[in-house]
Amino acid sequence: MQIPSHNHEQLVLRQDSASGLSAVIAIHSTRLGPAAGGCRHWVYENTEAAVCDALRLAEGMTYKNALADIPFGGGKSVILGRPEQPLTQQQLEVFGGWIEELNGAYITAEDVGMRVADMRLIARKTRFVSGLGLAGVGGDPSPSTALGVYNGMVTAVRSKFGVAQLDGLRVAVQGLGNVGFSLCELLARAGVKLVVADLNPDRVAAVVSRFGAQSCASEEILQQDVEVIAPCALGGVLTAESVAQLSAGVVAGSANNQLASPEVADLLRRRSILYAPDYVINAGGVISIAHEYLGKNDPSWVAERIGGIASRLSWIFTESENAQCSTETVARSLANDRLAQGKCVALRGVA
Ligand code: NAD
Repeated sequence: MQIPSHNHEQLVLRQDSASGLSAVIAIHSTRLGPAAGGCRHWVYENTEAAVCDALRLAEGMTYKNALADIPFGGGKSVILGRPEQPLTQQQLEVFGGWIEELNGAYITAEDVGMRVADMRLIARKTRFVSGLGLAGVGGDPSPSTALGVYNGMVTAVRSKFGVAQLDGLRVAVQGLGNVGFSLCELLARAGVKLVVADLNPDRVAAVVSRFGAQSCASEEILQQDVEVIAPCALGGVLTAESVAQLSAGVVAGSANNQLASPEVADLLRRRSILYAPDYVINAGGVISIAHEYLGKNDPSWVAERIGGIASRLSWIFTESENAQCSTETVARSLANDRLAQGKCVALRGVA
C-alpha cells in the first residue's frame, strides 16, 4: 500500500483478525490539545482510500477545533466497513481498546455511520470518547451541527443576497442522515422550499413526508435551480466540473472536505458563489462533543460557541472581499494564525 505523504503527528493502522476489524486513526495536530474528531464507519474501495480519508479529515479537524475556540487538536478515525454489515459489539470494544492505547492523544465521537449506542460500546474500553449523552448532557452531536449550519447559512444568504430571512428561498440538501435531516427540519420551519436527495430512499421518503420537500435523483442535486446548496453527505463533491454546473449563489452545508482540491475554492469565487468553509460552518457538533468531554453542564458555553460560527463566517466573508481571495484562503490563514500562537484566541471584535 502507498501511504500518501503527510504532515500528521501519528498515523495508526490496526487490524484484528479475531473480530475482523480494520481501522485507521490519524492524529494531525495536538498543538492546541488532544486531537478530537469523530469516527467514520464507511465502505472504502481499499485501505489506501481509507487512509487518505482519515488524513484529510484529521487535518480538517485541526482547523475546525482551532477556529471553534475549543482546547483540542485535530484527529479522526475511520473504520473500514463491509457492505450491509453493522459493527459488532466485539469490534467496537476492540476499537475502544486501540483508542485507549493512544493514552489520550486522540478522542473519538460520532461521525458518518456511527451512533450514540456505538460510542457507549467503545466507552467500555476507553475513557477517550465523547458523544455518549449520559445524564442528559451531550450525546448525538448532529442537532448542534445542523444548528451551526443553519445559522451560518442565514449569514451567507444575508451576505450574498442581502436578505435577512430564509423564508421563500430554495435550498437543495444533499444527504439526509443525522445532520441533513435535522437541517431540513430547521429549514422547513423557516419557510424554505426544500429539494433533497439521498442514496437511501427511506430517508428521502421521510423528509418528503415530514417537511413537504421535493426530491430529485442524487446525481442531480447539485445542479438544482436553487439559491443555496447544502452538501450534507460525503466530501469531495465540489469539483471543477460540479462547480461549473452550479446555479446556486451560496454553498453552505455540513459535509467535511467538500472541496475536492483547494483550487476549487478559487473557482467558486470566480463564479461569485459564496462558499462557507466546511470546517467553520460545521463546528457545532464538535463544540457539543467538547462540552460533554470537558465535563461541563453549561448550555450557555455551547450556545456562545455555536453563535460564534455565524459571526466568524461573517468576518471571513468580509475579509475575502477585502483581500480579493477565497473564503477558504481566509479561513485557513486564520486557523494557521491561531495554531502559530498555540492557543485559541478570539478574533478582534468577533466571538
Ligand atoms: P450520516 O451517516 O448520518 O448521513 C450521511 C447521509 O448521506 C446518508 O443518509 C447517506 O445515504 C447519504 N449519502 C452518502 N453519499 C451520498 C450521495 N452521493 N448523495 C446523496 N446522499 C448521500 O452522516 P452525518 O452525521 O449526517 O454527517 C453528514 C456529513 O456531515 C459528513 O460529511 C460528516 O462528516 C459531516 N459532519 C457531521 C457532523 C455530525 O455532527 N454528525 C459534524 C460535522 C460534520
